[in-house]
Amino acid sequence: MNTPSPSGFEYPVLDLVEKELEGYIDKVIPDVTGNRIFVVNPSGSPKVMLAGHSDEVGLMVTYVNEKGFIYFRSIGGVDPDILPARRVIIHTKDGPVRGVIGELPIHLKKRDEQKKKREVSDFFIDIGLTKKKEAEKKVAIGDPITFDAQFVRLSNDIAVARAFDDRVAVFVLAEAIKLLKGKRFDPAVYFVGTVQEEIGSFGARTSAFGVDPDCAIAMDVNHATDYPGISKEKYGDISLGKGPVIAKGAAINPVMYKLLLSVAREKKIPYQSEGIPSRTGTDADSIRIARSGVATALVSIPNRYMHTPVEAVSLSDLENSSRLVAEFILSLKRGTNFIPTKYGAEG
Ligand SMILES: [Zn+2]
Repeated sequence: MNTPSPSGFEYPVLDLVEKELEGYIDKVIPDVTGNRIFVVNPSGSPKVMLAGHSDEVGLMVTYVNEKGFIYFRSIGGVDPDILPARRVIIHTKDGPVRGVIGELPIHLKKRDEQKKKREVSDFFIDIGLTKKKEAEKKVAIGDPITFDAQFVRLSNDIAVARAFDDRVAVFVLAEAIKLLKGKRFDPAVYFVGTVQEEIGSFGARTSAFGVDPDCAIAMDVNHATDYPGISKEKYGDISLGKGPVIAKGAAINPVMYKLLLSVAREKKIPYQSEGIPSRTGTDADSIRIARSGVATALVSIPNRYMHTPVEAVSLSDLENSSRLVAEFILSLKRGTNFIPTKYGAEG
């Protein structure tokens, strides 16, 4: 799943998912935004939308100077501090072009320069050419750029790659669909590989309108707080390997929350808890206010170093997240009332 697909471009990752799900789904619905919707048991009820975003943060070519050096802007939230001396891949119409983000050697930096906070526009990419004309033959304005950072395994079951935000959720939801194979269940399942989450959750907005679900689970990554320099007091207690994170808060439908919690407890699936007072910063925000409202839950996969080329996750968390979603679908009954307050749940 380590295929480039920065926000707003083509989505080869969804081609992979489609191939992977052959034989597990009843139909595939592509839409004009770029979302892809994988449907199982379309005549079932209630209609459940599962959303994982298939785009990733990255960079985009915006200017080539006279010497053939390339300037760029960020696609989504990219921290300028992680840019210097990175290898990058520019995704051109003729295939990948390799480059590096140049950086002044330490010997040549003045003391005060080292302290200066830089912006994305302070950096450039060197692709080894020396003339604007040559560079423009290879690279076009608007080409997307990703970090050149491959999947690796660390000790235990920790895996590292770029764009685990949110490819891991796309993977987890696809695996959940596979777990449903041959089982009987009430709901219609609409698994949506959404696009453009990193630039404003636009894919979730259009697909939630199109699917018109009764309820939804948005799945994303969230910040693990189990490494040096991050505050549990501020961000809660979230660890890799301790299970998916079930969110509670104003954006989360209480009935959905309660159902997920009871499935996790009943099936002995480890889980962690997170309180989100207002916006979630995920596709859940768009889905829950689609049309006249959708009962939406948020399940997150703990992630270290989000939006860097070394995002880390635990593989056991992925497995437990797939199980949680599959067991939720299997347990969800026709006629479930998602209206909160006196009809529904206290967590
Ligand atoms: Zn993100």
